[in-house]
Amino acid sequence: MTIYLFPPPPVASVPVRGHAELFPVNRLFFVGRNYHAHAVEMGKPVDKSVERPFYFTKAPQTLALSGATTPYPSETANYHFEMELVLAIGQPGFRVKAEDTHTIIYGYAAGLDMTRRDLQLVARDKGRPWDLGKDVEHSSVCSEIVPMPGVVIERGNIELSVNGAVKQKSDVDKLIWNIREIIADLSLFYHLQPGDLIYTGTPEGVGAVLPGDQITGSVEGVGSVALTIGPKA
Ligand code: MN
Repeated sequence: MTIYLFPPPPVASVPVRGHAELFPVNRLFFVGRNYHAHAVEMGKPVDKSVERPFYFTKAPQTLALSGATTPYPSETANYHFEMELVLAIGQPGFRVKAEDTHTIIYGYAAGLDMTRRDLQLVARDKGRPWDLGKDVEHSSVCSEIVPMPGVVIERGNIELSVNGAVKQKSDVDKLIWNIREIIADLSLFYHLQPGDLIYTGTPEGVGAVLPGDQITGSVEGVGSVALTIGPKA
């Protein structure tokens, strides 16, 4: 029996619709700038003919479950919501061919990639890593995972509201790099593993929240996600 100096951190996990067992989370990947209108609103339009997708990661410890109230984080004055379709990986995959990518899909969730936008943009413009803007405690919000093994989602309304007012509304068919392309490309760099979650990018309309705000979002055919912004940390 292995003895640790102190208790190891608990395994991050997400409920699964229709199952008592939890989905244990391995890694959290995020696709940057994957809807044209969002790339434009960030001042960084994407030309797919000459660019490849890019990614950032967050620690599994940043996971927060849908329905949570999370603190307004420290060291920001511009905390943003980003509504995203989340892809859950269920099989190992490395250099997965586009036509085989469905074989490693376990299911999907509705998620939020909460962001210290002020710090992200400073980092971006100074050529620094994005961690302080993106790898924010409690910022990777995830709904229950809906098992849809082998299913490649190609379309569906995706939207987000704050205090009942719609802020983001688009369709998953507007992804610049679609589900198959994301898995094929990301698996060139990583040996994807069961438990990996891939946040596939946010549509246009991102904006700031304040303590007390209530965020709700949904992806058609998948589910919904909710978050309440608590007092300042
Ligand atoms: Mn995002």
